Amino acid sequence: MSVSSLNLNAKEQPGYAANKMNIRSRFLIAIISIALVVLLLFGSIAYHIAKDTSEQKEVAILQEDIKHAAKTLSRQKNNEEYLNFLRQLHGSHAYIFVFRDLKGNVIPSKLSILPSDADIDQLFSSIGPPSTSVRSGIIEINEQRYPWASAPLADKELELLMIHRPEIAITPIFETIAARLIIAGIIIIWIAVWAALILAAIISRRIQAHNAELQYRASHDDLTQLPNRSLLHQRTEKALAAASLRDQELALLVMDLDRFKEINDTLGHHVGDELLMQVSCRISAVLRSSDTVARLGGDEFALLLPDTNVENAIACVERISQVLDKPFNISAQEITASFSIGIAMFPQHGKDLESLLKYADIAMYQAKQNGAGYSVYDAEHDSYTLQRLSLARELRAAIEENQLTLYYQPKIDILTARINGVEALVRWQHPEHGIIPPDEFISIAEQNGLIDSLTYWVIEAAIKQCHAWGESGMNIKVAINLSARNLHNTSLPGWIEGRLKQYGLAAGMLELELTENAIMVDISCATRLLNQLSRLGIPLSIDDFGTGMSSLAYLSRLPVSKLKIDRSFVMNMTDDENNHLIVRSTIDLAHNLGYQVIAEGVETIEALNLLKQLSCDCAQGYFFTPPLPVEKLEAWLKDNGWKILSTPATSIYSQANKPDTKLNFN
Ligand code: C2E
Ligand code: MG
Ligand code: MG
Repeated sequence: MSVSSLNLNAKEQPGYAANKMNIRSRFLIAIISIALVVLLLFGSIAYHIAKDTSEQKEVAILQEDIKHAAKTLSRQKNNEEYLNFLRQLHGSHAYIFVFRDLKGNVIPSKLSILPSDADIDQLFSSIGPPSTSVRSGIIEINEQRYPWASAPLADKELELLMIHRPEIAITPIFETIAARLIIAGIIIIWIAVWAALILAAIISRRIQAHNAELQYRASHDDLTQLPNRSLLHQRTEKALAAASLRDQELALLVMDLDRFKEINDTLGHHVGDELLMQVSCRISAVLRSSDTVARLGGDEFALLLPDTNVENAIACVERISQVLDKPFNISAQEITASFSIGIAMFPQHGKDLESLLKYADIAMYQAKQNGAGYSVYDAEHDSYTLQRLSLARELRAAIEENQLTLYYQPKIDILTARINGVEALVRWQHPEHGIIPPDEFISIAEQNGLIDSLTYWVIEAAIKQCHAWGESGMNIKVAINLSARNLHNTSLPGWIEGRLKQYGLAAGMLELELTENAIMVDISCATRLLNQLSRLGIPLSIDDFGTGMSSLAYLSRLPVSKLKIDRSFVMNMTDDENNHLIVRSTIDLAHNLGYQVIAEGVETIEALNLLKQLSCDCAQGYFFTPPLPVEKLEAWLKDNGWKILSTPATSIYSQANKPDTKLNFN
C-alpha cells in the first residue's frame, strides 16, 4: 500500500468548499475595500493637486490679464465700458472687478458686483492697500479661496482689482478631474478584483495544501508514515459499517515486536526506529490495497483486513511472518525480529473497534505466552488473560507511581548465628488488589518490556536503603534478584556503578542473584554481563540452584561466589531422602568448587540442624522470618540483638576451622 494512498483527499474534508468560498469572498471584499480607500486617497490628493495647480494657473492668468487691462484702461476714457468688456470677456459671474483709489476706497461702479458686505472688508484687508506695482495671490476667507490680481492704472491714480469667485472656480476643477478619476477608479477596481481573485486562488491553494498536510500529520505516524490510531479508527468504522451491510467478516490484528525494547536499549534508538520503518514497509508490501496497517505506538501495530475470514487472516499472518523472518540490515548489522500477532474477528468476537482491539490484544498476549507467533482470540482463556492484561497495563504506571515496595529477608550465617545480609524481594502494593507477590507480576514485566524499569527501580530502592542503614551504623548487605531478561541490558553494569557512586556505597555491600535457568537461557550473554558486574566488585550468586539442568562444573567458569539451593529441596529435606541427598551432594560439590552455599526455604529447626551437619554456610527461610518491610525488619533485628556480621564470613567453607557454635535460634 503506498503511503500516498493513505492520505485523505483534502477536497473530501467537511467544510472544505465553504472554506474556499469564504476565503474568496473575504479576499474580494478586502481588496475592493483597499482599492476604494486607495481610490479615495488618490482622488483627494489628485483633487488638491489639481486645485492648487488650477489656482496657480488662475493667478498667473489673472496677473497677465490685469497687466493687459491696466495698460488698455490707462489709455481709455471710459472705464465702465472697458470694465463691461472685461466682464464679458471673462464670464459675467466668475470675476469681480473693482477700482480703488490710492487710499484704498472702492470706486462705486454698476458693474463691480461685490461679494456680501461682510466679506468685502476681509477681502480688502487681506489684499492690502493699493500698490503701484502689479500684484497677485490667493486669499482665504471663511474657508473659501480667492485668487486675485491687481495693477495700477498709471494716469488715473486708480488700481484695478480682479478677484476670482471660488464657488464658481471649483466646478471646472471637478469637471476636469472627475472623468479621469472615474476612469482611474474603474481601472483600479478592475485590477483590484483580478488581484483579489488571483491572490485568493494562490492563498486558498496554499491553505488547502497546509490543511492537507495538517490532516495527514494528524492521521499518520511521524516515523513510519503509517496511519495512526485515529485514522485506523475512522477506517474501521467504515469497514465495520460496510461489513454488516454486506454480511461480510472482517479481521482486526494486533502485532507487537518481541524484545523490541532490548533492541532499542542495546543497539540504540536509531536502530530501533529504522527497524520499525523497515517492518512497516515489509508488512505494507504483503497487504491488499483495501487493507490498512496502522502504528498504534511503540512497537505495536494494528492491521485491518476488510472482507476476510479467519483462514485468510491466518494466511495473511503467514505472509507477514515470511517477510519478517528475513534479517533486517540496519547500520551494517543484521538484526532478526520476531513478533506476536493476535487476531480478532468481526462479528464473532466483537462488533466495534474497541472490543475487537481488546480481543486482538488478548489473543496477542496469548500468542506471546505460548510462543506460537500468532493466536486467534479464544474466549476460554479470557478471564485469566484479561486479568493479566490489565495488570500488565497497570504495572507500567505502578513502577512510575512508586506502588512497588521492597521486603527484606535476612540470610543467616549458620556458623556464627549472625545476619549475613538481606535479600530484597519486591512487592506490588496494588490500590485494589492489595499486596501482589512477585511471582504474579515479574513474568508480566518480562513479557511486556517492563523488566528493566522494574529492575532499575528495585536496585535504586535497595541501594538507597542500604545507604540509609549504613548512615545509621548498620552495615547490612543487600542482595537483589536479576531477571533473565536483564542479561541483555548492556547498560546495566554502568548504571549500577553510577548509582553506587551516587550513594557512596561500596560494591561489596550489594549482591546480585541470578537464577540458574536465567543463566542457561543465554550463557554467552550471561557470562559477558556477569564478568562486567564482577569487575565492579559486586558479589554474584546463582539462585534457585537445582531447578535447572545445568552442571555445576559448567557454572564454575562464571565469576560467581555463592550458590543458593532451591527451597523445593530444602523445605522437606528432613523427610525426603532424595532431597536430603541432593542438598548434601550439592553442598559438597559447591564447596569443592569454592562456592559459599546458602540454603533457601529453611522452615524448621530440624532442617537448620541438618544443614549445619551438612556444613551449609548460610540459611534463609521462614524459620527465622519471612520477608519483612523495612520497619518490621528493623524491629526483628532489634529483637535479635542486631547481630549483623560486620566482616564477611569465610567465603570458602573449611571443615578444619569450623567452630562448634550453637545457633541462638530455637
Ligand atoms: P527467590 O529469589 O528465590 O526468593 C526467595 C523466595 O522464597 C521468596 O519468595 C521468599 O518469600 C520465599 N521464601 C523464603 N523463605 C521461605 C520458606 O521458608 N518457605 C517458603 N515456602 N518460601 C520461602 P517471593 O518473595 O515470593 O519471591 C519469589 C521470587 O520472585 C523470588 O525467588 C525471585 O525469583 C523473584 N523476585 C522477587 N523479587 C524480585 C525482584 O526484585 N526482581 C526479580 N527479577 N525477581 C524477583
Ligand atoms: Mg533470590
Ligand atoms: Mg531462590
